[in-house]
Amino acid sequence: MKITFLGCGDGFSVEQGHNSALLTFGDTNLCIDFPESNHWGLHQLGMQLNQIEHIFITHLHEDHVNGLQKLALFHKVYPGKVKPRLYIPIGLKDDLWQILRHGLELTTRGKRVFEDYFDLVAVENEFEIAGVRFELIQTLHVLDMLSYGLLCKPYFYFSGDTRLDAGYLLQISEEVQTIYHECHMQDDQLPSHTSLEEVLTLPETIQKKMILMHYVDDYVQSSARQVFHDKHLVRLAEPLRAYE
Ligand SMILES: [Zn+2]
Ligand SMILES: [Zn+2]
Repeated sequence: MKITFLGCGDGFSVEQGHNSALLTFGDTNLCIDFPESNHWGLHQLGMQLNQIEHIFITHLHEDHVNGLQKLALFHKVYPGKVKPRLYIPIGLKDDLWQILRHGLELTTRGKRVFEDYFDLVAVENEFEIAGVRFELIQTLHVLDMLSYGLLCKPYFYFSGDTRLDAGYLLQISEEVQTIYHECHMQDDQLPSHTSLEEVLTLPETIQKKMILMHYVDDYVQSSARQVFHDKHLVRLAEPLRAYE
């Protein structure tokens, strides 16, 4: 299981792409979220949009879904080996099509539906790809808004966007090697995200497993990340670096 961040910036990042991870395992891949900046990230890796085989969407904020329309159209114009399979939490499916349909429904070849572009899998609790099981974990991002993380034992927990749920992290920390967790890394307290101050309240055993993502552009230079790493046990995700 290899995880490469196509981007690890927050919703306003201009320098490092929005948060998204490309998982490669077996002979396939899964992209967690699909912001527009993924096109650049994949290009840096020497990959085309039509090589993405599976996609999972954590929630519907635009920095997590604003590349899907381009991905869908690219696959139609330049078909890849397989039609992309989109795993979407069941409660988000209709709303996601409402976001995408304005650019995808009407075409010169007639009217199209969501299923014309993606092999859709509406997920309730979990899904499996190439023998690897992914469990959906509802997160605490915005009150009453559906948002999910992914638990993939024994490899990782990927938080998606969320406020800190320390109880949940304590519960699963023994079961995974790595915790990819969002952290905005700025002084202001954002009520829908996790602050560094909160991360640093966690037990050291958990901090050692954590790679922080979805952070501000202040840490885009490796020298800035190095200064941070000299002081802390948690690590900052590096764009385009592969984690095993
Ligand atoms: Zn976000
Ligand atoms: Zn969000």
